[in-house]
Amino acid sequence: MESIIQKEKQCLVCHTTVGLHKHHVYYGPLRQISEKNGLTVWLCGRHHNLSDHGVHFDRELDMEIKILGQRAFEKEHSREDFIKLIGRNYL
Ligand SMILES: [Zn+2]
Ligand SMILES: [Zn+2]
Repeated sequence: MESIIQKEKQCLVCHTTVGLHKHHVYYGPLRQISEKNGLTVWLCGRHHNLSDHGVHFDRELDMEIKILGQRAFEKEHSREDFIKLIGRNYL
């Protein structure tokens, strides 16, 4: 599914359009759920997992993106639906 978080295909952090990776906002066991619900963002390698500034290593950035994901989801669904799907509340 298309991202419900981002319209442009560019790095969410630095806006480059080169070398993009698709990041699943709620990853690990929730990866497929993220995919199915459009809870994905584009990130360049540096902001994904190829440097310490990447979302997989930077807790703060990870949390920011998880909050963004929940806000986007709740435009069309209730908080209860989000918690049912993801198992916690980030807001
Ligand atoms: Zn970037
Ligand atoms: Zn990722």
